[in-house]
Amino acid sequence: MKFEDVLAKAEMEEKLDVSEVFKLLHPASDDERRLLFSAARHVREREFGSRMFIYGFVYFSTFCQNACSFCLYRHGNPHATRYRKSPQDVSDTAARLRDDGVHLIDLTMGEDPFYRSYEGFNSLLDVVNEVRNDLDMPVMISPGTLPKSEIRMLSRAGADWYACYQETHNTELFKQLRPGQDYQVRLYQKKWARECRMLCEEGVMIGVGEDSQDLLVSLAEMSRIGTQQNRVMSFVPQAGIPLDGPAHRDVDELTMIAVMRLIMPDRLIPASLDVEGLDGLKPRLDAGANVVTSIIPSGSGLAGVAQHELDIDSDKRSVDAVRQRLGGMGLSLASRSEYQNWIDDHRPSCAGES
Ligand code: SF4
Repeated sequence: MKFEDVLAKAEMEEKLDVSEVFKLLHPASDDERRLLFSAARHVREREFGSRMFIYGFVYFSTFCQNACSFCLYRHGNPHATRYRKSPQDVSDTAARLRDDGVHLIDLTMGEDPFYRSYEGFNSLLDVVNEVRNDLDMPVMISPGTLPKSEIRMLSRAGADWYACYQETHNTELFKQLRPGQDYQVRLYQKKWARECRMLCEEGVMIGVGEDSQDLLVSLAEMSRIGTQQNRVMSFVPQAGIPLDGPAHRDVDELTMIAVMRLIMPDRLIPASLDVEGLDGLKPRLDAGANVVTSIIPSGSGLAGVAQHELDIDSDKRSVDAVRQRLGGMGLSLASRSEYQNWIDDHRPSCAGES
């Protein structure tokens, strides 16, 4: 089947077989690439109109017990700046992000041993409760892997979303990227979170040694698991980490965004400011993304993940800067109630359902 025919089938939301998805992942010319992105935008427009969502990012602890090979904050890396923000700092930053106009507060940490202690975990529950209930903001929590009982406590404290990225669904590559970590336990986080009525985000990394086959498996897994938000992010080399890539990429981040939009039309797909800053926003939205992530207030002393300083203290990671860029693309920010309605409509209704 020709590329255009597969694209037409995808635009009509007909189910594609593996060879057809493979074809979409490999546009053979600039024209085919343009057609792919145009179809992805068309599908996004049909599902979400021209209204984009936007998330604030609060990376409140950069301590971590793990040693992921792609991550600046891996245990023992002397190049990483380590901090653990106080609950008051987290709450103040979240309030500032709310006032700036974000739709959700993404509370992210490394697997910080402090937050695995009784005292630390209780303080995490307090922070989630305060942001969700006192500030009245939707909350995404990205704490790494936890027992199901603790995921349930986070849900009861008010967390709406649980983010936990495999980065790859090739179990051998997973061992290299996340040494010493359990693939199945990480995958189960999403199942447990759904059973606790939380929305879930899955993530895949590009340029870490994966091939097209691995990406096909990731796409199938994201469809199967039913994660409501799926992010793809390019690996950016960091000081002091073993992975020195980026490795050869069979498929780039933008193509992957477009294919995710076509085969999972109603899911949220982030355009992260963390990889290429504000200048990287347009290409990601042009490929079909619909959530701007990683808004970080200038002067907050908070870091990003893929690029820990990029644009942060120039105000380019602000809601106003994003609003301006969206305007130039004929897009706009959704209202907070539009976002709240979306999460209310998509929250798993009971154990096992999405
Ligand atoms: S990716 Fe997360 S779990 Fe892995 S080293 Fe970095 S902060 Fe720790």
